[in-house]
Amino acid sequence: MEKRVRELKVDYGPAENIYWVEVLKGLWITNRHFMVNMWRHILHALRIKAEKGAVTFQYPEEHRPIHHRWRGRHRLTVKQNGAMRCTACMMCETICPDECIHIVPGESPDPNVEKFPEEFYVDALRCCFCGLCAEACPLDAIRLDVIEPEICGFTRDIIFNKEFLMGLNNDRPWEEWYIENKTDSKEK
Ligand code: SF4
Ligand code: SF4
Repeated sequence: MEKRVRELKVDYGPAENIYWVEVLKGLWITNRHFMVNMWRHILHALRIKAEKGAVTFQYPEEHRPIHHRWRGRHRLTVKQNGAMRCTACMMCETICPDECIHIVPGESPDPNVEKFPEEFYVDALRCCFCGLCAEACPLDAIRLDVIEPEICGFTRDIIFNKEFLMGLNNDRPWEEWYIENKTDSKEK
């Protein structure tokens, strides 16, 4: 059956029909924003006002402040004795909507624990940082830290392995942050 297309007719007034009136309106709005921001910056520089004008973050040198509830980079937590908390129950892998977690379970060397992940991978480029893996974990074994994951690069190979997630390999620059905060992850 042939579909009918409804045409929308907009009646422009005389001001809209004179093209340059609208151009002048646009220029006025742009100019107003410019002047307001410039004065805010001047007053801030003179320490008269605490509030700054609109700024652009000079990324990557300057990063936007991140919220304390930000779901950033993944971390596998460890017990006080350094053993992994993860028991390879696969709940995080199952719930992950992007299918970016891959776990290879194995028999745990600890007789009190049935399984542990021999391998644990998170494909950071597929991840949408929803945090469902951390929500689903019954053992608080995986978390998303308040840190921006540095996943920009020249390769498409940004897969976090088990050692990296536990903070054991420090060959990546952003790993320094984890070392400074490593004690936080050691829990009973
Ligand atoms: S944050 Fe979401 S998308 Fe990323 S690994 Fe966890 S469940 Fe998957
Ligand atoms: S991180 Fe948590 S949810 Fe994922 S396999 Fe380990 S224990 Fe299970």
